Amino acid sequence: MAEKRKPACAHISEYDLLTIERSAKGFRLIQIPQTDMFSLQGHNEKNTPINMFRTLTFTCRGMFSPRVPLSVRMSSTGVKKGILADKVAVITGSTQGIGLAIAQRLARDGAHVVVSSRKQQNVDRAVEILKEEGLSARGLVCHAGKAEDRDRLVNMVVEQYGGVDFLVCAAGVNPLVGSTLGANEQVWDKILDVNVKSPALLLGQLLPHMEKRGKGSVILVSSITAYVPIPKLGPYNISKAALLSLTKTLAVELASKNIRVNCLVPGLIKTDFSNVLQEDKDLISLIKNLYGMQRIGEPEDCAGIVSFLCSPDSNYINGENIVVAGFSPKL
Ligand code: NAP
Repeated sequence: MAEKRKPACAHISEYDLLTIERSAKGFRLIQIPQTDMFSLQGHNEKNTPINMFRTLTFTCRGMFSPRVPLSVRMSSTGVKKGILADKVAVITGSTQGIGLAIAQRLARDGAHVVVSSRKQQNVDRAVEILKEEGLSARGLVCHAGKAEDRDRLVNMVVEQYGGVDFLVCAAGVNPLVGSTLGANEQVWDKILDVNVKSPALLLGQLLPHMEKRGKGSVILVSSITAYVPIPKLGPYNISKAALLSLTKTLAVELASKNIRVNCLVPGLIKTDFSNVLQEDKDLISLIKNLYGMQRIGEPEDCAGIVSFLCSPDSNYINGENIVVAGFSPKL
């Protein structure tokens, strides 16, 4: 007769935890790629596999719908918990484009997110977008290049959450489209202040509050122009190349504190930031040729990897610069 039923949990990865109400003895769960279905294989007393392949859609139904991110895990109690549940993430330059897509993804995966940028109305709108989805979000104005704004951001995070687990530095500027040697000192200062110095300075301020958590993950945002420079963006290209080194340098310095530092290196992504490039057809075809790029990316294309880099699945990944540029063989 039927054995006493107990839940069998198959941990496919940190990203998919499925609970199956079946007689648990000897069951193995095998994922069939590209489908909604799973096959169950049982074993008899002599541990010989018995033919009891079945497609299971009952408990799994809905898990694979595009509406439910893969990173949502379901416990045996049926309560959904994201892989980043109860973690706190600070994302700079996050009221639109790549930063907002990252904030949205981290929040969907369970984190409390703090979004920020220079303009109050953009902050308000971003928080509203996130809250409308039922996500946990707060926001405030923070010009990444201004020390007093960074102070306010750190104070708010500590006051509201008591610490921080993840820092994503997406704020970046490019006030110049022209020749490198034509850039004046102001342009150089602005680009280096916001793009290179501000991630290091902000992390320095947040570090004691990340150390308290016993571990942390930091993601800087560079660009493929760091590897193959785009003409007319000289100081920007250089600032993004500096971030590759900042990533490796900080990774070495902070490894003993259990804080990992990695870098997202996006290709050309459809945002306001790249509008100026996208409008210039000659430049776009030059860029496509430079990188062998197959298509222009979407902000969401950059978000999953950041969630992964925050998650325990990436615990042994540190100091890496990870290109997200579709298929770009010339990179
Ligand atoms: P975006 O759509 O223009 O968004 C930029 C965001 O940063 C906005 O929320 C903006 O809001 C904020 N911001 C701008 N200057 C800031 C500052 N000084 N301090 C704080 N926040 C600031 O740009 P994006 O394309 O998502 O770019 C995000 C990052 O990705 C940048 O670091 C960029 O270099 C990098 N990237 C972009 C591409 C691409 O093709 N789009 C490719 C490679 C790398 P406010 O206006 O309210 O400040």
